[in-house]
Amino acid sequence: AFVVVLSLVNGFVFSAVDRLGTWPAALPEGLLALDIVDKIHVDPDTTTRFATDYGGLSQAAPAAVLSPSSPDDIATLVRFAYSSSPSSFSIAAHGHGHSIRGQALVPGGVVVDMASLGRGRSDRINVSSSDWYVDAGGEQLWIDVLRETLKHGLSPRSWTDYLYLTVGGTLSNAGISGQAFRHGPQISNVYELDVITGKGDTITCSRQENSDLFYGVLGGLGQFGIITRARIALEPAPRRVRWLRLFYTDFSSFTGDQELLVSMTEKVFDYVEGQLLTEKDVGNSSFFSDNDREKIKMLAAEYGGIYFVEGGVYYEPATASMVDQKLETLLRRLSFVPGFAFTKDVAYISFLNRVHEEETHSAAPEDVLHPWLNMFVPKSRIRDFEMGVFKGILKNNNPIGLVLIYPFNKNKWDDKMSAAIPDEEVFYTIGLLPSATVDDWKYLDSQNDEILRFCQQQGIDFKQYLPHYTTQTDWKNHFGPKWDVFVRLKRRYDPQALLSPGQRIFTSSP
Ligand code: FAD
Repeated sequence: AFVVVLSLVNGFVFSAVDRLGTWPAALPEGLLALDIVDKIHVDPDTTTRFATDYGGLSQAAPAAVLSPSSPDDIATLVRFAYSSSPSSFSIAAHGHGHSIRGQALVPGGVVVDMASLGRGRSDRINVSSSDWYVDAGGEQLWIDVLRETLKHGLSPRSWTDYLYLTVGGTLSNAGISGQAFRHGPQISNVYELDVITGKGDTITCSRQENSDLFYGVLGGLGQFGIITRARIALEPAPRRVRWLRLFYTDFSSFTGDQELLVSMTEKVFDYVEGQLLTEKDVGNSSFFSDNDREKIKMLAAEYGGIYFVEGGVYYEPATASMVDQKLETLLRRLSFVPGFAFTKDVAYISFLNRVHEEETHSAAPEDVLHPWLNMFVPKSRIRDFEMGVFKGILKNNNPIGLVLIYPFNKNKWDDKMSAAIPDEEVFYTIGLLPSATVDDWKYLDSQNDEILRFCQQQGIDFKQYLPHYTTQTDWKNHFGPKWDVFVRLKRRYDPQALLSPGQRIFTSSP
């Protein structure tokens, strides 16, 4: 009987090798005997699709791609890698590949194509209308979570600006947008997770159960496990949004008003963001009418870069006049340039999906690179940042591309979670989001380095968001007092450092 079983296994292995072509030397052949072998792809057409990301600045092909049809397939792969020591291999979950610096790449290892978990399945997003939560697969895009919850009149409370990102990908960072001042980032709005650890164990965790893993994974940059399900808090979905843009020529008035809006206990604005805008960028926005655009361009031409606060007020059609009254009273307290308040009225889903809608209007070439820099800067140093970076390094408010500037309240972040933030009650997110070509990305990248250097020299206690570091000393500084816990969790849940090597925290690759 033993001989029959062995020859059956061998026959299976050989037929899989035939199908797969040349087996990569980097991977143990024992993988071929697993029952997930049909879901492993080693052909260059597939592996090159996972060799870069949205940033386009890093390239590294995996040896293989796993297209799982269930979380168990992922657990099988990780368990095998864990037990193959010393010839184990790295594994990275690939959400939607919208990282900038190769964080989801795994040179010579195995990429888990998370999207495959949800392909052709309608049971990966489940809404509880009675308890106001949604169970969403880690591979799900936020736009699909939104569409499904809206069918029940419910919606998550905290968002990213762009919804074509996965639940697992944003929860591994923080997930920030203009609602975070009130509800905290997306990681503050999670009740429970299913996680496959670096040992291949599947663990359900929450604030009450396996809480160290729960807190570690949220903002944990994929270091402790692969999120296969997240239970996310919901609230009743509003139907309409009054969407405002208020213009400022003076940075202090701009930030002063933002700080007022995020500190108010009375609920008027549900969303607060802001941008630095140059004359040339005014033309790119479909928010404004042609007349308004001309007016704003003239203001920008006169003052150089100008700023706008972007606000959103959620409401039900029946309360429209009350909303208008409240808004009118509030706007009187703000210091924007008279005559430079612009509003739109849109459906809730259009508001949340605004970046994608704008994106589909602009025909961006495909081979664009994105040397983005995202930072959190404490409120006490935001004027220094303005003078040194916006007025200085960016040559008198003349950035290349979009610049986001808006504040958060630290008390809406849970310090037990892995995400690193400045130690100050109010801090700003600054997003420098240029598009570049192969010819100018290096210039923009060196400008990013100059900004980081400036902040270090000035002793500004900033944190990078979507961080990118290449030495462990830098990572240690990044996590500060959270570093020891981070290392302890890594030892406990991914002792062989198999997961998400592209973050370069515990490995030097890619
Ligand atoms: P990927 O790039 O595929 O993966 C990111 C990291 O998470 C990798 O290390 C990967 O291994 C790991 N990972 C992926 N899935 C899982 C999982 N299920 N479990 C554990 N680890 C996993 N961020 C914001 O906060 N707010 C925004 O408004 C915002 N807007 C953006 C707009 C654009 C156009 C882009 C390109 C990015 C934006 N981001 C924003 C950043 C974005 O949240 C992060 O880059 C996020 O990681 C991308 O998600 P993804 O699904 O593409 O993840």
